[in-house]
Amino acid sequence: MKKIQMVDLKGQYSGIKDVVNTSIQEVIENTAFINGPKVHEFQKNLEQYLGVKHVIPCANGTDALQIAMMGLGLKPGDEVITADFTFAATVEVIALLQLTPVLVDVNEDDFNINIEAIKQAITPKTKAIVPVHLFGQCANMEAIMEIAKEHDLFVIEDNAQAIGASYAYKDGRKVKAGTIGHVASTSFFPSKNLGCYGDGGAIFTNDDDLAHTIRGIVNHGMYERYHHDVVGVNSRLDSIQAAVLDAKLPHLDHYNRARQAAAIKYDKAFKNIDNVITPKVSATCSEDCDTSCQCHVFHQYTLKIKGVDRDALAKHLNESGIPCGVYYPIPLHNQKAYQDERYNEDDFKITNQLVKEVISLPMHTELDDEQIEYITSTIIKFING
Ligand SMILES: *Cc1c(COP(=O)(O)O)cnc(C)c1O
Repeated sequence: MKKIQMVDLKGQYSGIKDVVNTSIQEVIENTAFINGPKVHEFQKNLEQYLGVKHVIPCANGTDALQIAMMGLGLKPGDEVITADFTFAATVEVIALLQLTPVLVDVNEDDFNINIEAIKQAITPKTKAIVPVHLFGQCANMEAIMEIAKEHDLFVIEDNAQAIGASYAYKDGRKVKAGTIGHVASTSFFPSKNLGCYGDGGAIFTNDDDLAHTIRGIVNHGMYERYHHDVVGVNSRLDSIQAAVLDAKLPHLDHYNRARQAAAIKYDKAFKNIDNVITPKVSATCSEDCDTSCQCHVFHQYTLKIKGVDRDALAKHLNESGIPCGVYYPIPLHNQKAYQDERYNEDDFKITNQLVKEVISLPMHTELDDEQIEYITSTIIKFING
């Protein structure tokens, strides 16, 4: 059996080696390392793939979030609602911009931001909601956009984990994740569903004016050379990373389907194991959706372990040559940097429970049946004692 890895970037590379190498070589030959034609080509191709008017590439997914918030003109003291159960980048940029993060609880079944919790957190100071499409599927965007409309709020989709995922409206209409809110951010960190070979990120929007503002912000606030109209940042996707991404983009749907195929096999193996709760595809996914709908692109395949010591299981898996991860072990509201006396533990019941139960299994485009069989049988044997 091939060694099991959490992600297998080398295996994936071997299938696209020639096109990636040629694409990188082109950049080296033409020496347009910054803002070269590759960046522009990738931007256009991604706009077309997503069905969004503007993609603005930048240096990483954390910058993308920050720049989106700067572009919207959020001001110190504005409250921004986001999920308690996610990677820290989201709350980090809110705090960095001296906005006030307001963390709220998530759903037990799909791990995404809870709609009732959002409603309860809204105050006259609330200016934006940042749903994070966690582990590869969209938050309930239809409900979030309704709330935003009612209260005149911006919606910034953190799409770092769900690029290529579809979102199904109740009426059956489908769009790509990251094209629904006023603006969205994504990350091309190597292990993301569309990853480059270094750091990278992008901002998406259908709003022409916002796109213009953001294009200036990523480039030192310049709209005309050496005229600095606003305070900006230096955040660029370099041409070599764009070359890698442009070579990989045509494979994204196929890669996401490979993840889904692995998820289906995992689901099947755990079907009759009461202690193991497999990931739920969101209720907003319309009924005729089958697994080819891409409503969940499994950035992570995350189980909930009931009635068995999750940490002991994780240790056993590691000892058995099976890497696994706990995403995320500490609720953001309990992180030292983000504690706030206004928070009440009772408002975070689900996150507080999830951090004890979740475990993410190896998930990538190269998993084979033998590996999946070994992973699932090792878990089942441990649970059955
Ligand atoms: C990875 C990730 C980010 C940050 O992306 P970087 O490119 O590493 O800066 C932000 N939000 C979420 C939910 C992520 O998973």
